[in-house]
Amino acid sequence: MEVIVIGAGIAGSVIARELAERGKKEVLVIEKRKHIGGNCYDTYDEHGILVHQYGPHIFHTSKERVQEYLSRFTEWYSFRHEVVARVGGQLIPVPFNLNTLHIVFPKEADQIEQMLIMEYGEGARVPILTLQKNENPLIRKVASYVYENIFLKYTMKQWGQTPKEIDPAVTARVPVVISRDNGYFSDKYQGMPKHGYTKMFEQMLDHENIKVDLGVDAREHLRLEKGKIYFDGKLFEGDVIYTGAIDEFFDYQYGALPYRSLEFSFEYFEQPDFQGHSVVNYTVDEDYTRITEFKHLTGQQSEGTTIVKEYPRSYEQGKGLLPYYAINNEKNADLYEKYRQHAKEAEHFYLLGRLAEYKYYNIDGMAERALQLADQLI
Ligand code: FAD
Ligand code: UDP
Repeated sequence: MEVIVIGAGIAGSVIARELAERGKKEVLVIEKRKHIGGNCYDTYDEHGILVHQYGPHIFHTSKERVQEYLSRFTEWYSFRHEVVARVGGQLIPVPFNLNTLHIVFPKEADQIEQMLIMEYGEGARVPILTLQKNENPLIRKVASYVYENIFLKYTMKQWGQTPKEIDPAVTARVPVVISRDNGYFSDKYQGMPKHGYTKMFEQMLDHENIKVDLGVDAREHLRLEKGKIYFDGKLFEGDVIYTGAIDEFFDYQYGALPYRSLEFSFEYFEQPDFQGHSVVNYTVDEDYTRITEFKHLTGQQSEGTTIVKEYPRSYEQGKGLLPYYAINNEKNADLYEKYRQHAKEAEHFYLLGRLAEYKYYNIDGMAERALQLADQLI
């Protein structure tokens, strides 16, 4: 083989396809799970409902190259994703926007709306940590409400830390929006692969130059030694793209990179609708952060409905949970850098992916990065 790709998630699948199409004759994809798709994997549960095994995934992008690329492998079920939060028995739109403002502060909303527009401009997307710095007492009142009722407890559950303690980029993903738009994302393209993610990945990996080995842990076959790559004991001089956890690959020799994890609890109900929304966030109470009802995401028509609750957990290697979210801070960046330098010793060994790069990527950002690496390698 000419290229080895480790992992069949979005990073591994896109680069495998791209390299295969652009002239690499033998691309081997090694995947330790029994299925392709990585965390985007979806499957029909025992009640015939299409569910996302590793948490709800909604595709959204403004990147034309990515949209065009993925559209070669799937048609789309288009919709604009909206989320509500349950606060004090009421469901309010999240991100907090001008509609939410009018629900929460009906008497002062007109006045505050004008102030927010004057201060930040119509359509602005203001991170909560920025809004809190505003000195106008009415704007501060809104900021305190949003911080207390939308961010504080949800973030404590998700990260075990307050919004002020974690990387500010995390809460900035759900800004206060100075408009009437209830959309969770602002991207031009939003939706789901019409026949599911797994089908999209099947199409992507279906190429005469690609071979996929499932249920195989690459660490049992591949090692780096003195800047050289060995596959089953033999020197391998082609490119290796690794999309798994980098600390695991190097046997945690510099220490484990910290992650947050999740436990998913799926429930089926013999009724057509459970919550009337695709996602409800629990921002003040309950142990779980959100409930997703899949049929509202996928448009599936069915007599029953399946939901999933997400319970955040701290991640410890070997305890049966998966590493989902890198905890980005200076200390962890320094530790990651040690692994990155180690990996760099082998000229043809490339790190690509949310775990390999210890970085937050959405599906579209990951696909874009994979296409860029393919550009570089070809
Ligand atoms: P992964 O999907 O994790 O794929 C890596 C693959 O490598 C895995 O299949 C793994 O089994 C395999 N592997 C690892 N080590 C080895 C080894 N040693 N040998 C062989 N195989 C190995 N993004 C969005 O755009 N929209 C969303 O709504 C969204 N929701 C999310 C919800 C949750 C709960 C989470 C955790 C993430 C969400 N994301 C979402 C992000 C999305 O999941 C990632 O961007 C994407 O999955 C990253 O792809 P990847 O290929 O880097 O990693
Ligand atoms: N967040 C929150 N309340 C919400 C939604 C989000 O506190 O109702 C915070 C929380 O810290 C979360 C972050 O904003 O981790 C990013 O939210 P997002 O929905 O992007 O999280 P992801 O989809 O990555 O889990």
